[in-house]
Amino acid sequence: MNTIAIAIDGPAGAGKSTISRKVAETLGYIYVDTGALYRAIGLGLVAAGIDTDNTEAVEELLKTTKVNIVYIDNEQRVMLNGKDVSEKIRTPQVSMMASKCSALPVVRTFLLELQRKLAREHNVVMDGRDIATVVLPDAKIKIFLTADANARAARRYDELILKDPNIKFEDVLSDLQQRDYNDSHRAIAPLKPAEDSIMVDTTDNTLQQSIELITNIVKQKL
Ligand code: C5P
Repeated sequence: MNTIAIAIDGPAGAGKSTISRKVAETLGYIYVDTGALYRAIGLGLVAAGIDTDNTEAVEELLKTTKVNIVYIDNEQRVMLNGKDVSEKIRTPQVSMMASKCSALPVVRTFLLELQRKLAREHNVVMDGRDIATVVLPDAKIKIFLTADANARAARRYDELILKDPNIKFEDVLSDLQQRDYNDSHRAIAPLKPAEDSIMVDTTDNTLQQSIELITNIVKQKL
């Protein structure tokens, strides 16, 4: 079967996951959050006490690591070595480790085939940093979402404060800026739009407005 892929890339907090999930739901496609895969590896590294400077230890760990995605009630769940880690991967510590380990070629190669396989087998809306440029360069529609760093940090802060009332906005902003820097300056598969990506800035939009905007773009292009 010939499957259809929609790639949605952009920095943290641009609204990728909520927008992608909604677009996938509207079209009856599968939503794939690739950041969750890097987070699962990040969690594995934190749990094993391995830092990303030690690439040999990372490589060793990957030999015994299994990451996959399952869908329960249409919701993506991320499995690390058979355990559902979908909630555990959403901490600031794991975010930072995901960003650090995602710069390692060995980690990117480890996750590449899983992402491509999902797109071969299903119609997908896949979000990430390098979906349009590296993972699925033949995606039918490519969208690059951006928003001002302050607006993105404010959105992330609103999510995190529900879990940790002590969290500080300045810390959320500086973590996000650090991750933006890491993600766009790494040598391999950096965060950037493809030549044929449609650029959408969500700074002044409500989430609902962005969902409608992207849904319309996608419907027009399909
Ligand atoms: O999207 P999310 O913020 O959950 O991603 C966590 C981290 O995983 C990002 O900061 C980025 O370093 C990495 N990532 C990546 N390539 C992707 C998706 C995520 O490098 N396609």
